[in-house]
Amino acid sequence: MVNLSELTALCEKLGCKIKTECPLREYTTFRIGGPCRALVSINSAVSAAELLRYLKANGIRYGIVGRGSNIIVSDDGFDGVILLIGSDFAGITVEGDTLKCQAGALLASACVHAQQQGLTGMENLFGIPGTVGGALYMNAGAYGSEMKDVVVSAQYIGEDCNIRTISAEDMALSYRHSAFSERECIITSVTMKLAEGDPAAIKAAMTECMQKRSSKQPLEYPSAGSTFKRPEGSYASLLIDQCGLKGLSRGGAQVSEKHSGFVINTGDATCSDVLGLCEDIKKIVFDKTGFRLELEPVILR
Ligand SMILES: Cc1cc2nc3c(=O)[nH]c(=O)nc-3n(C[C@H](O)[C@H](O)[C@H](O)COP(=O)(O)OP(=O)(O)OC[C@H]3O[C@@H](n4cnc5c(N)ncnc54)[C@H](O)[C@@H]3O)c2cc1C
Repeated sequence: MVNLSELTALCEKLGCKIKTECPLREYTTFRIGGPCRALVSINSAVSAAELLRYLKANGIRYGIVGRGSNIIVSDDGFDGVILLIGSDFAGITVEGDTLKCQAGALLASACVHAQQQGLTGMENLFGIPGTVGGALYMNAGAYGSEMKDVVVSAQYIGEDCNIRTISAEDMALSYRHSAFSERECIITSVTMKLAEGDPAAIKAAMTECMQKRSSKQPLEYPSAGSTFKRPEGSYASLLIDQCGLKGLSRGGAQVSEKHSGFVINTGDATCSDVLGLCEDIKKIVFDKTGFRLELEPVILR
């Protein structure tokens, strides 16, 4: 049970904004899901550590949300506190060939900063709609690049609520996976090492990357991006296409006609529409091809 007046007082002391009974649909790119008891905007690593200590000491459920671009929130919402790692914690600094981002910085802003400083290595990540913290948690990637290629270290709040540093080698980064998904911790900053490059060429590569995205992906609809992970030996979109599932729908959830790897919200989708449709897709694909599809977004319930 969340003691809202106590939590509000703690947030005031830490200078963190708090919203109560907050509709989480407004904090995800899928635009679905119910409310959480409270949503607290983290403004520093120290605040994150202190809030985590308080939540754990009081047995309060909590979840972490960045840009909410890889999260599906249940229709009933989340009966606990959401720690939002977003624009209140989004500083970016550059020193030589090293980019240090607070976890709430948008990955796109980090890419733009790198480009402006003539640093190459992040071009293909431009256009992935999320925070740097979320990108590290998911080891986000596109067009042959992933966070793993550029990250050297990160700061995080560990299970013991202390601020710690971890090197890239210890993050177990692999396809859409990091060690953070097995631990209850909060990534607070990410350090990336890039290489010197030509700002104009970097900008051209970023523009090309964005054009590929908007020509192939249904960016005009809310979604969580690719709905399924790439199964070994094939591609989810290819299998879904081969099974003739483009346009298949349940309520307001639909397999995009433009890119069959995306389930989109056509306007009034619920979480149960989306998850129901995903189960239909998984079953049909398995029955027809033998491939087992696995959801990529994280379900918050
Ligand atoms: C249109 C579209 C296109 C996309 N294209 C791609 C793509 O090309 N490649 C790709 O990899 N992904 C893609 N995605 C998915 C998504 O953008 C990425 O996974 C992104 O990195 C998620 O970042 P986020 O800040 O939105 O994380 P969220 O969705 O907010 O969170 C995702 C997970 O990370 C955890 N998390 C977030 N921040 C932190 C933190 N600071 N500390 C600890 N845990 C944290 C959350 O608890 C949750 O479990 C796409 C999504 C959309 C909507």
